[in-house]
Amino acid sequence: MSRVLVVEDESAIAELISINLRHAGYEVTTAATAEEAQAAIDAVLPELVLLDWMLPGQSGIALAKRWRSQVRTRDLPVIMLTARAEEADKIAGLDAGADDYLAKPFSPNELLARIRAVLRRKAPEALDSVVEVGGLRLDPSTRRVMRGETEVRIGPAEFRLLHFFMTHPERVHSRAQLLDRVWGDHVFIEERTVDVHVKRLREALEPVQCARMIETVRGAGYRLTHPVQALSR
Ligand code: CA
Repeated sequence: MSRVLVVEDESAIAELISINLRHAGYEVTTAATAEEAQAAIDAVLPELVLLDWMLPGQSGIALAKRWRSQVRTRDLPVIMLTARAEEADKIAGLDAGADDYLAKPFSPNELLARIRAVLRRKAPEALDSVVEVGGLRLDPSTRRVMRGETEVRIGPAEFRLLHFFMTHPERVHSRAQLLDRVWGDHVFIEERTVDVHVKRLREALEPVQCARMIETVRGAGYRLTHPVQALSR
């Protein structure tokens, strides 16, 4: 389930957005100030943030700029919400690093469509689309992994891990990044947890000869790769 952080000081609007997002299957956390938002991010990295521009104290713009400047939050998908529909404001929002910009009032359907569009671009593991890499086929909606006609038996944590690897192939991910992107938490979960689940994932992939797709990159982390020649049937 994808986590969305809603940063909005007007409680009625925050509530309305939350209800719509929960109805659409998202897990929602809310924050009413920049400080609360930062605390929420420090605890659990969400898949996406809806960020109100006008907040008491520090503005949404300042917050977005700070997130863009820090390694952990650099790629965090952010949609800016604002009551100001002028073009100059829109440009300022996008310049601050927002991925999209939505002027209030907006319809719930438009909000959901914008969220899906940003996730498709920046966090495809948060969507239900079928992914195929190197003969492996993963379907998030049915939670099944197949290679040809053979189903891969896999636990829920390994499924999420494999989903993330398959939507970001050939890139090296550190243990801290995997904790953030797969578990949402790089602070309270130990990095060794990643190693345990990678080991289980390889064991699950062994019967379909795909264990070698998960490579250990010494001193850096893990990477999913698909050396086609190694996958003889
Ligand atoms: Ca506001």
